[in-house]
Amino acid sequence: MTTIAFIGLGNMGGPMAINLQKAGHAVRAFDLSKEAVAKVVAEGATAAFSAQDAVQGAKVVVTMLPASQHVEALFLGKDGAPGLLASIAPGTLVIDSSTIAAATSQKVAKAADAAGIDFIDAPVSGGTGGAIAGTLTFMVGGTTAQLERAQPYLEKMGANIFHAGAVGAGQTAKICNNMLLGILMVGTSEAIALGVANGLDPKVLSEIMRRSSGGNWALEKYNPFPGVHENAPASKGYAGGFGTDLMLKDLGLAQDNAIATKASTPLGGMARAIYAAHSIAGHGGEDFSSVIKMLQKP
Ligand code: NAD
Repeated sequence: MTTIAFIGLGNMGGPMAINLQKAGHAVRAFDLSKEAVAKVVAEGATAAFSAQDAVQGAKVVVTMLPASQHVEALFLGKDGAPGLLASIAPGTLVIDSSTIAAATSQKVAKAADAAGIDFIDAPVSGGTGGAIAGTLTFMVGGTTAQLERAQPYLEKMGANIFHAGAVGAGQTAKICNNMLLGILMVGTSEAIALGVANGLDPKVLSEIMRRSSGGNWALEKYNPFPGVHENAPASKGYAGGFGTDLMLKDLGLAQDNAIATKASTPLGGMARAIYAAHSIAGHGGEDFSSVIKMLQKP
């Protein structure tokens, strides 16, 4: 049994923390939202009063926060307030599973290294369903020794663990994947909306495409049309899941990276513009598959 601090207990972090607790570890849980903490405490974890409190006695720290600015402010501090690294004991392993800029992971890792702390980036794929089932895919950036240290914990939350390269490489792999996911969700939505506008049953059309050359993850598990997949956010009023604004953040990270590396990503750029328009129309907090609303006939 290991004492694990888990900070960021939202749609993803909550179920991930519960899986670590169920695996026999002692989870010290912290989130700015008391409701989020309560859900994890109901499964046996201990509530922490602050991030500083959560890391007391912890050998491992896991973070699952929205974006770069949250991770940087937490670990390195903000507006003169000290960062969490100052409260973490040397020798501790920190696993950051948030999707953030690779440069931020590298900046935090450098400061952690100076304090004798192992920091790896380990963003995930698999959605909230994967987080609950413990079948996430982890994309790890760090040394082989750091990954080996993290492996027993990652295995309790995921089914596939990849070593993408040095610190930050996990984030780069993640934004490539999410750029593709964002494009595929728009394409899938477009195709279903076109079929429905022509009188096709969305379930029948989705099944035809799933078993044909257009098959993809959205058609397998995360159909954007309500009622096709019972457990997908589309069938729950687009609640929970992966927020449009989080997808927009990831497509922004991909475009920032493409600009820096002079890569050509025209569809990634177009997808970012589509999700931005969808967010401005008031759908930023809904699951990203709600982008189909932009493409459907009223
Ligand atoms: P979420 O908004 O549901 O949860 C984020 C949580 O972090 C919230 O509960 C919030 O209160 C908490 N938080 C923010 N700042 C904090 C702080 N300083 N201290 C403590 N808690 C703080 O987001 P999510 O869907 O769980 O996503 C988390 C990360 O995982 C994001 O980077 C996202 O891009 C990535 N991700 C999400 C999915 C998905 O399907 N939702 C899939 C893969 C990756």
